[in-house]
Amino acid sequence: MNHDSSRDLYDRALSVLPGGVNSSVRATRPYPAFIERGDGGHVIDADGNRYIDYVMGYGPLLLGHDLPESVRAAVQSTMSDGPMYGAPTEIEVELAEFVARHVPSVEMLRFVNSGTEATVSAVRLARGYTGREKIVVMQGGYHGAQESTLVAGDSANPRPSSPGIPQSFAEHTIPVPFNDMETIEDVFATHGEDIAGVLTEPLLGNTAGVMPIEGYHEHLRDLCDDHGALLIFDEVMTGFRVGGLQCAQGKFGVTPDLTTFAKIIGGGFPAGAVGGPAEILELFTPAGDVFQSGTFSGHPVAMAAGLETLRYAAENDVYDHVNQLGEELRGGITDIVAERAPGYTVLGTDSMFKLVFTRAGSTDVSETCGAGCRQTPDCERFARCPKTGADVENAETDRWERLFRPEMKEQGILLTANQLESGFVSDAHTDEDIEETLEAYKEFFE
Ligand code: PLP
Repeated sequence: MNHDSSRDLYDRALSVLPGGVNSSVRATRPYPAFIERGDGGHVIDADGNRYIDYVMGYGPLLLGHDLPESVRAAVQSTMSDGPMYGAPTEIEVELAEFVARHVPSVEMLRFVNSGTEATVSAVRLARGYTGREKIVVMQGGYHGAQESTLVAGDSANPRPSSPGIPQSFAEHTIPVPFNDMETIEDVFATHGEDIAGVLTEPLLGNTAGVMPIEGYHEHLRDLCDDHGALLIFDEVMTGFRVGGLQCAQGKFGVTPDLTTFAKIIGGGFPAGAVGGPAEILELFTPAGDVFQSGTFSGHPVAMAAGLETLRYAAENDVYDHVNQLGEELRGGITDIVAERAPGYTVLGTDSMFKLVFTRAGSTDVSETCGAGCRQTPDCERFARCPKTGADVENAETDRWERLFRPEMKEQGILLTANQLESGFVSDAHTDEDIEETLEAYKEFFE
């Protein structure tokens, strides 16, 4: 493959954009493919190279790169009426009604413009509702570029994970390991009266898709109820992808107090939302006094794209298709590594997938989960499969980034940037795409 144009564009970008990109994860080594256009489940870069695309915008593109006619028509007609107004429109009411109909924990929504804005607003709302300040988050979870959650360390020593965030902010955040019931019990025993909420992804989507162990979310639910804290599910990534239109909370059968959405809810355009019962949501201004606002919030074009995307998913067999391809992909990769790299672990569910180059993974493949780790306690690999963010971060990250991803790219398979980010299957992917992808995995592990 020739990459001269991408290389030259990156050279230019480095002079005017820090790191040459507008979102850090895009700066793949040695330089990223600059994308010229999408085509179904594929993208074509500035040099004319075609890739099967599993980045899918990092999750928003449930339907792939070609919007179905109904979505395209809604976007175009909304846009031609005028881009935005700073006044309410019917389309935002319709999208809120659609979400409230399908996600049982949601009665009302406040739309914003991104996942980050959604989690910022949800944290403020939880603090405003409870009158408390501390937020519990999961190590290895990600809730966007916001001060309250860019926190590393542990419950005894939380510290900002980025320069620019005051230590005093981090002191209100308590990071705990995902899937660890004892630690969070201790945290509630010590800080229970100060905890406004537990903010967690239903599965660690930003750490390869580590699944919850049985009973974990129920335990979080009980702890929050017992101590008067809110359970906040960050479904920015899993919303309308895992568990279909009910989202991951429907799949796992747990009802959070608040849910954050973004990515698919905007159908490929910038949108996010906080959802929950009216009793809590009505604390947002102007109904209540927890301040929340935004010039572009409920942007008509994003609302139209989101609504028509979700309607399309509701009326077609989108989830059957993407989940089946996801299963084929995870199953196929599981078989390939069982023979060639048995320590590695396949993670993911529904239309998400990831191969983790697990450093200390068991090489006993007799009980490997057929289509990705399910955290099944009687599986022989259970004790060694990733349970926490740290388990994935300790994997062979360099091998993934320096060898695996670049070689897959040369074979025409575009994967997310690093060991941590999930891959996404879209409705536009085909059986042939999956076969070709599995061939490339085989080739790498030959
Ligand atoms: N929360 C989760 C679970 C995410 O995966 C992301 C982004 O990937 C965010 C929040 C932040 O969303 P955004 O990048 O739209 O600000």
